[in-house]
Order: sequence, then C-alpha cells, then structure tokens
Amino acid sequence: MATIIIPTALRPYTSQQARLSVEAATVNDALFALIERFPALKQHLFNEEERLRSFVNLYVGDEDIRHLQGLETGLKPDSELTIVPSVAGGSALLETDQPGKEDLIVQERYENLQLSNEEVLRYSRHLIMPEVTLEGQLRLKASKVLLIGTGGLGSPIALYLAAAGVGTLGLVDADIVDETNLQRQIIHFTSDVGKPKLDSARAKVTEINPHVQVNLHETRLTSENALDIMRDYDIIVDGTDNFPTRYLVNDACVLLGKPNVYGSIFRFEGQASVFYAKEGPCYRCLYPEPPPPGLVPSCAEGGVLGILPGLIGLVQATETVKLILGAGEPLIGRLLLLDALSMRWRELKLKKNTECPLCGEHPTQTELIDYIEFCGLRGEEKTTLENTVPEISVQELKQRLDNNDLMTLLDVREEHEIQISSLPGIVHIPMGEIPDRVSELNSADEIIVICRSGGRSGKITEFLQSIGFRKVKNLVGGMNAYAKEVDPSLPTY
Ligand code: ZN
Repeated sequence: MATIIIPTALRPYTSQQARLSVEAATVNDALFALIERFPALKQHLFNEEERLRSFVNLYVGDEDIRHLQGLETGLKPDSELTIVPSVAGGSALLETDQPGKEDLIVQERYENLQLSNEEVLRYSRHLIMPEVTLEGQLRLKASKVLLIGTGGLGSPIALYLAAAGVGTLGLVDADIVDETNLQRQIIHFTSDVGKPKLDSARAKVTEINPHVQVNLHETRLTSENALDIMRDYDIIVDGTDNFPTRYLVNDACVLLGKPNVYGSIFRFEGQASVFYAKEGPCYRCLYPEPPPPGLVPSCAEGGVLGILPGLIGLVQATETVKLILGAGEPLIGRLLLLDALSMRWRELKLKKNTECPLCGEHPTQTELIDYIEFCGLRGEEKTTLENTVPEISVQELKQRLDNNDLMTLLDVREEHEIQISSLPGIVHIPMGEIPDRVSELNSADEIIVICRSGGRSGKITEFLQSIGFRKVKNLVGGMNAYAKEVDPSLPTY
C-alpha cells in the first residue's frame, strides 16, 4: 500500500485525514483511488479538462513527478506520494555547492567598515565562531535586507536579523496593528494596537539593536513601486500572506537578480525556500499560475497556529544570515515543509523550469505585470463593491428580532465558530454542507444568512438565489458587525 500525504488545506475534503494508504501501481491510480473515496477533492486537483491543476505539485519521495514519468510514475508499497499545493516550485538538477567568494551577496562593501568596542562585545558570540568571525560580522553590518511585511513571519525575522547585526533593515507595510495580530505578530505589543505596524516595528528593532539603520516604506508593494523599493537591497525576505504580492516579489527579484527568501504558513503547516534565479528555480518555476480565488483560504479565513510563523520565519532569518555570510548550504532548489501537528520536517527537491516565463531559457516576461489581475482577483473586488445580493443591516435585523418577525436565521459558519458567538434560534448549516442540505430550508421563507463578517454568507445568499430562493438576504458585516454595533456583550473574532 502506497501512502498519500494530504496537506492541511485539502484535509477538509478527506475527513481531516493527513495520511491515506491506497492500493495503487502508479500516481494516476493513487489519485483515482483518492478521488473515488473523496469526490469533493477532484475539483481541487484537476481542472475541467481533467488535467492536473498547475498550482498542485506531486512528489514521489522527494522527487517532483514532472521530472519522473508524470502521472504514470510507478509507486512501490513503501512509496510516499505528497500533494503540495501552491506555495512553491522546480529545473535541471541544481548544484547547490557552497558559493565561492565571488558569489557572495554582499560584495566588498564591508572592507571599509569597522566594529566599535561596544559592537565587538555585543557580537562576541558570533565573532568567536569560525563560520562568522570579524569578517562575517562586518558583512552582516554592510548588508541591506528588505523585509516585505511585518506580520506573523516578518515579526521574528525582523527581531532576529536586528539582533544578529544586519546593518540596514528595510521594512514594507501599510497596516495598522489590531488585536487579532497579537496572537502571532510578536514584534507588536498590546499597547501598539491602533498604531502603524512600521512605527511599532521600528521601535522594537531600535530597542534591540540601535546600530541597525531602519528604512520604513509605508506603502503596499505594487508593480509601480516594487523595483524602486527593492533595488537598493541585497536580499529580499518575503513575509507576505497573499498571492498577488508573492508573485510580485518573486518576479521583481528575478528581474533584479536578487535572492528571495520565501516562507508561507497555513494552520499547522509551513513552507520555506530560497528562490534565487541565478542559481536555482524561482517561485514561478514551481507554480506557474496562482490558484483560482477562493480555492485556497487565507490565514484570516482558515486560521494559523500563532507559533508557526515563528518556526518558519526563523528558517527565513537563518537563510538570510547564511546568504550574507556565504556559509553552509543555502535552501536554494529545496523546499522545506513543516507539519507542526506531527512535528515532521520534509524536504523536496525543486528544479528550474526551462520553460519558466521569468527565469527559463527564453523568458517571455521581462517586466512586472498586474498581479491582482494575474491572480484573478479583479472580478472579486468588483462583486464585493457592486453588492449584487440583497442585504440586511445589523440594526435592521435587531429591530426585526425585537418585533418577533418570522424569519429563518441561517448561520453558515463552522461549529467551533458558533461556540464563540451566535444568535438565538439559528438554523446552523456550515457553508460546505449547504448544497447537500438545501432541502432542509424552505424557499418560501424569508432567510437571513449569517457568517463571521459577511463574505461566506454573501456567497451562500447568491447561491440560494440562483436555485430559486426569493426572500434571502445577506447580513452585512456578519456576527462581528452585530457584536460591535448592536450587542457589545458578544465577542468579536
Ligand atoms: Zn522561474
């Protein structure tokens, strides 16, 4: 029996099973057996033409099947087939030897620098290491690192790079600290809620190490500003949480010839790699196209264990320091996967895609593009703005509840969310079960659809309308808005 390893993002479709045993001679047989058992998985693995989706990669052992016999790759009874959805990618075999002196990222800039006595004392545990020494510490001091995002990943990265003595740290973020950040974004404290993340981050970095020059870029990274912001830095560290920015960071790094230290997280799972097109694959080699909007949930929708960004962020910080020092074996051409629930680290080989539009043999893309469009999000923005579904405000709902009006309150959140906050007398059907359980609803009734903040309920309102429900309305802002504006005794989350 071969084993299929299911990533967290797909476990809702496998009754939460992480490992499955199947009787299969090839990868194709194994996927067929998997889909037979869990039909809802099919749309996530295959497109309408029955072809494997391009944001799903399959590995037998640590080899990408695209470099074996594809779906016909044979499986042995002890084979492990790993499904790796969008977060990384693969080329001709890479030689990832320790880079020679001439490959060092921070060139000769460090030669004119010195350490003060205070700095010598501060960095003394580095200076006595043969892999660092005074020269390495001066390289760190000369280095310029740009960190995109000061959230879950960016927090530990910024703190440790500052402590390690990176001379110039650029920070890009336009967000404000809010309460939901504090569970994982450890550079921001409770007293920072309401402040710009950059101000909060700079204060901590400076407190840890006043020798660090902090450059603030208080903006969202866009195709218009990315090259200008990134140009002056040696290494780019990707701490973003969305696909458009991830592709933007990758493409800009390839165009500028800079290494992109990558990490991503979801619930209990993380990935890390170093994409450096000069020496290995880029993110696009792995995932030529992003997943369709809505198919991969974000951390805001799916949640994330607060400690996980610490684990992955510190892998990124470690790789950044290694690149600056030119020490050890960088994570170029390798994708590190962490499953924190089983506490297993796995490593997959990544290869450069010779057809890659960015870094392949015949690049077809030589400038930045519109990444919102590329990720299929332009239409999404429009629908949310146009608000085509019938709505009800939380105040109106409150009034009608007080009048004891007859209506069905359909709550489409998950069971564990209902436990956090809910209205009395709801009909509870989780979003994913609506299509199968729609017969439990009466299309003649007035139905108010409720979720956390109005997104899921909007989709369900649209769906119910499309199958003939006439009197269905979406509760704008969901339970969180109800708690904020109507009943402050309820928690928000
Ligand atoms: Zn590439």
